[in-house]
Amino acid sequence: MNPAQYFIAINPVGLTGAAATRYVRDVREHLTWIHRTVSGRILLNCIRRPSFPIEIRPHPTAECNAVGGAEQKAAGAAWTGVVTYTPFAFSAHGSCALLPAGQTFGRLWDEILFHELVHVFRNATGRWNTAPALSFGMRQYDDNEEFIAVLCSNIYVSDRSNRIKSGLRAGHADFSAMAPADAARFGLFMSSKAAFGLVKQFCSDNPIFTKALSDKLADVEYNPIADYYRYPKLCETLSVIGDLKDRARMIDALVAMRIPRAVAAQLIMGIP
Ligand SMILES: [Zn+2]
Repeated sequence: MNPAQYFIAINPVGLTGAAATRYVRDVREHLTWIHRTVSGRILLNCIRRPSFPIEIRPHPTAECNAVGGAEQKAAGAAWTGVVTYTPFAFSAHGSCALLPAGQTFGRLWDEILFHELVHVFRNATGRWNTAPALSFGMRQYDDNEEFIAVLCSNIYVSDRSNRIKSGLRAGHADFSAMAPADAARFGLFMSSKAAFGLVKQFCSDNPIFTKALSDKLADVEYNPIADYYRYPKLCETLSVIGDLKDRARMIDALVAMRIPRAVAAQLIMGIP
């Protein structure tokens, strides 16, 4: 895979000599892994545009994080794509290795890079929008854009052409595993009220990308986008169950704050 074909430049900012060479080699390899998969090629082909080149460079600190988005190299310059990603942070002795046991879902090198490239894609297509509200049962996704990036990365994890993978990630707040009920078919739509509307908006924002993920990966273990395109009415109806689950979780949260369950239920459900 030649990153330049996709207008991607790997820039080892701040590194010299062997470290710089290793950085370029490692990032190129992780891009190659993404490119070998069906979902990875869909993403790369949808990002690819000469007017929006992407720079991948080391993350500025050693924290367990990476960032994807858009930037202006100078005031007034055109917006371009950027990913700050340091493979070492996600390695066996990197900063992410200090996380508690079980915090490993969606954390492999290429899974991290795929997630950040989804953020770049949303910027490249002018669709980046963190404003839509999440419902209570989706708060682990932090915001709409993280929800979209985690959703797509989980489809990448489910993609059978992706041979080495961790597992489905529960949200954006950490790297824990998705609960079996949420991972089940239609589970996303039943997990929280806003999920249906947010998936619908994403599909309307980026129809070429989402239809490709739906058509080429219709039969994988986890693909709520394919379920949305095939059964939109069912997904919408199931969001009623999502609303009830949101309320049940709100009651649990109040009970955890030592509010009696009967009082909590009355507050949330309006039950006398
Ligand atoms: Zn993110």
